[in-house]
Amino acid sequence: MSLTLAIVGRPNVGKSTLFNRLVGKRLALVDDQPGVTRDLREGEARLGDLRFTVIDTAGLEDATDDSLEGRMRRLTERAVDMADVCLFMIDARAGLTPTDEMFAEILRKRSKHVILAANKAEGNAADAGVLEAYNLGLGEPVRLSGEHGEGMTDLYAHLMPLADAAEEAQVDEAPVTDIELDEDGEGEAPLITDAKPLQVAVVGRPNAGKSTLINKIMGEDRLLTGPEAGITRDAISLRIDWADPDGDSTPMRIFDTAGMRKKAKVQEKLEKLSVSDGLRAVKFAEVVVVLLDAAIPFEQQDLRIADLAEREGRAVVVAVNKWDIEEDKQDKLRDLKESFERLLPQLRGAPLITVSAKTGRGLERLRAAILRAHDVWNRRVPTAALNRWLTAMLEQHPPPAPQGRRIKLRYMTQVKTRPPGFVVMCSHPDKMPASYSRYLVNGLREDFDMPGTPIRLTLRGQG
Ligand code: GDP
Ligand code: GDP
Repeated sequence: MSLTLAIVGRPNVGKSTLFNRLVGKRLALVDDQPGVTRDLREGEARLGDLRFTVIDTAGLEDATDDSLEGRMRRLTERAVDMADVCLFMIDARAGLTPTDEMFAEILRKRSKHVILAANKAEGNAADAGVLEAYNLGLGEPVRLSGEHGEGMTDLYAHLMPLADAAEEAQVDEAPVTDIELDEDGEGEAPLITDAKPLQVAVVGRPNAGKSTLINKIMGEDRLLTGPEAGITRDAISLRIDWADPDGDSTPMRIFDTAGMRKKAKVQEKLEKLSVSDGLRAVKFAEVVVVLLDAAIPFEQQDLRIADLAEREGRAVVVAVNKWDIEEDKQDKLRDLKESFERLLPQLRGAPLITVSAKTGRGLERLRAAILRAHDVWNRRVPTAALNRWLTAMLEQHPPPAPQGRRIKLRYMTQVKTRPPGFVVMCSHPDKMPASYSRYLVNGLREDFDMPGTPIRLTLRGQG
């Protein structure tokens, strides 16, 4: 099942305009399919490298009779039930109306996922309406202009994870394909291998070399699977199979903030956008590659984005670019490591890889570091091993005893991965000093080999 998106909202907010933009020339009317009436249009949409089905509830424009509200309600409910996700559109120029509230009500009750879109948001005449949209209680509105094609990047960022999930479900359902061997005994690769590409964001200050790096990764003997011709305008993430020298390849999706920034330049919103681009990229990614320029490493902006990645719980790889022009590589590397430890203690153990995006040197090590960081980020430690470890840690360095009563740590378990999260049951969690939590976190990192991934440790009291 591919993803199905329903565009809902009152007449005249701009649903059809967006529908037409998403579907373009590929519009396929499917009036004759069961369950779809003339009131609902369906088409195959493209947005960047995403493909999904879009349903438009536009057929109501002509309805002027008294039953309009009832019809609108029924039609919307049907569209909502058919879809995996609803794009609820309001007209940001007109502001909220009671009819919008009615739609919001239906969606809050009925839809699994709602993307709130404030349309006609080009220019600042829409600012008030965008703010008003927060009142609907459906989260942060996406600023869109269906007519001018603005906000498509945000829309993409909302849809991409849902589309990936739908795609994954599809692969689960797909029958296992046998590999046929040819005369040499070599098999053709099966069409479907690993469904879910590893999501990587390359972030860093302007001119660090992000575009050069991504081009290099995409280039030459690496199999390019995206973007396809004609969709580059909106392509903000690129699907690639990044192969190692033995030809083992890993599907990845690389979030291209550089491309976005270059687009933004045109719109003269460079500063504002580059910050939010970085943020969006971090949210999108499983592994964040913080790309530094060897000549000016660890600038404020670099530190901020690395810290953000850690706080958002992403696996981090630090790559130092333009290594080809460094003269005294030994000394420089020592300095870099020292700065890294001092300035980013929260990323202790994260890999520091020197690369040259220009010559391609170090890219294989970067690839390996990304895979490993992802692996660690997904790691699960068995409960029995954890508790044996906890006992040893407590013996080695007993917890403090505020007011003469020793804090007891009783039991520990890993409650999540991506990044790894642990819960320790203990007496008086509120009295536990941060230094002891740090002792445990650093111990986990070293003893279970989890360098460079954020580790979350929660202390929980009993009863
Ligand atoms: P629907 O009834 O919700 O399907 O709305 P339409 O797509 O038919 O659009 C209604 C009107 O709003 C048309 O005149 C469109 O040209 C206009 N419109 C649609 N999108 C935008 C937009 O992003 N900005 C502005 N200013 N007008 C828009
Ligand atoms: P972005 O703004 O982060 O996307 O950076 P670009 O990829 O546009 O690169 C900025 C400048 O640095 C360009 O002039 C590149 O040619 C140069 N550059 C990028 N990577 C390297 C590298 O590894 N070595 C050298 N010497 N120059 C590089």
